[in-house]
Amino acid sequence: MKVAIITGGAGGIGAATARQLLERGWGVAIADLNVDAVETWSNESKDRVFAIQADVRDKSCAADTCDKVVAKWGRIDLLVNCAGVNRHSPFEKLSLEDWQFVIDVNLTGTFAFMQAAAIHMLKSGSGAIVNISSIAGARGVPDRCAYAATKAAIDSITKSAAVGWATRGVRVNAVAPGFTETPLVRRYIDSGNIDIDQLHSTTPMRRLASPDEIASAIVFLGSDAASFITGQTLYADGGFMAEYGIPSTYKE
Ligand code: NAD
Repeated sequence: MKVAIITGGAGGIGAATARQLLERGWGVAIADLNVDAVETWSNESKDRVFAIQADVRDKSCAADTCDKVVAKWGRIDLLVNCAGVNRHSPFEKLSLEDWQFVIDVNLTGTFAFMQAAAIHMLKSGSGAIVNISSIAGARGVPDRCAYAATKAAIDSITKSAAVGWATRGVRVNAVAPGFTETPLVRRYIDSGNIDIDQLHSTTPMRRLASPDEIASAIVFLGSDAASFITGQTLYADGGFMAEYGIPSTYKE
């Protein structure tokens, strides 16, 4: 049985990824702050789900989680770094605490899990890591500068790890989702921090992604179908990054 660890896998994109892997017969460990929700979607495959209550900010969290999974299932084939948070604030008002909080979860958490999982993967000479970036990492985002910085840095450490481990059987890639209808985005829409009409109008496909559409990209990069792909950030964004910014005004 192939084995995956998904940080932040209790809900949203991480849970959709877990469900797709379970359908393919994988064992899936979920490392999340709150694993209660796992009960609601893991029913039929309970014996292949390992819910681990975890805060990726804790210093020993990554190593402890990987050790628990190896003790239970003997291997780690895929790590998906999905745990992510955001703090909305104009750049000039963002507190150092909020900046550090976002860095600790999104970037240091990702780094620590990459390192801890890679120790096992490099020993066995195989494995894949998929980090979750964002379109925000490639653009200036006025009220989410810490978030955007972490996603740009995730693209960077993805490349560094990928080239470092390229001859040792471990592939590292990132998926950068566009706006996706998850609890995270729903919270921002409901609180007025994101305008859904604006999200639609800035996405060429004029809609949000479903969590399953992003999960499909993650599962692809984590599978043998992507065996010659490493160091990439795959934009699953409904055309967001491809657009010039000026809609077509052509008239016959
Ligand atoms: P979500 O809020 O639905 O899920 C995030 C999960 O991370 C939650 O289950 C939460 O409990 C967990 N988490 C948060 N802090 C944690 C911590 N310290 N330790 C362990 N777990 C923690 O979010 P989502 O929309 O599914 O986002 C998943 C990833 O995708 C994030 O990295 C996010 O930045 C990225 N992303 C999302 C979108 C989008 O539009 N939804 C777009 C681009 C990128």
